Amino acid sequence: MVPSLFLAHGSPMLALEQNEYTDFLGSLGQKIKPKAIVLFTAHWESEQTIMSYRDDTYETIYDFGGFPDELYSVEYPAAGSKKIANIVMNQLESQGISVELNETRGLDHGSWTLLSRMYPKADIPVVQMSINPYLPAEEQFKLGRSLRALGEKDILVIGSGVTVHNLRVLKWGETEPESWATEFDDWLIERMEQGDTESLFQWDTLAPHAQLAVPRAEHFVPLFIAMGSGNEARGTVIHRGYQYGNLSYLCMRF
Ligand code: ZN
Repeated sequence: MVPSLFLAHGSPMLALEQNEYTDFLGSLGQKIKPKAIVLFTAHWESEQTIMSYRDDTYETIYDFGGFPDELYSVEYPAAGSKKIANIVMNQLESQGISVELNETRGLDHGSWTLLSRMYPKADIPVVQMSINPYLPAEEQFKLGRSLRALGEKDILVIGSGVTVHNLRVLKWGETEPESWATEFDDWLIERMEQGDTESLFQWDTLAPHAQLAVPRAEHFVPLFIAMGSGNEARGTVIHRGYQYGNLSYLCMRF
């Protein structure tokens, strides 16, 4: 049995840097040894859920600009798994959620930056999943809920995003977190620890600084998918930190 996780992918430089967060990801990978990974990435958006469907090795996608050359030479040659994809598809379709299959798209940086620190050998098959940022939180949770049984099969569901993610207000060089960012995360954490999904589903009207923290929901919704797919509704904080004043590295286990 493995839990489900919400992990912050923040800056793609985490694939190269050595810091408290990358150390955390390394030790998390030591603790949780799944037989496969199903990862919902903020960097793959579609109206209908699309899932990768392949057994061969993924290409590594460098879907960012302006980073050092070294980052564009990092490769994460994990393979896919049609067998695992079929399990995921059956679970989703049994709940009336239709899925599209994709045999060609590589792993984007929402996937490989994190996974390269958790499982550097790239020896665990990955099924990459798209997200729809326009679905309400409750629908995201239900999508996750349809995958709840995967943890019992040692298949790790990861939602890869960021809670406080507003690139227009980043404070480069700022080492202390800004209060509005921590207040938003505090609100989430308190309700996730209580399993108060009713309030969480109304985060956009109830949480302090919600619009500032989440100007667009693509990085936020993987949190609700991870929450729904967990073994329990209550969440536990497994890592917390901030970069550039307000970019959150909050990570949760469900
Ligand atoms: Zn991102």
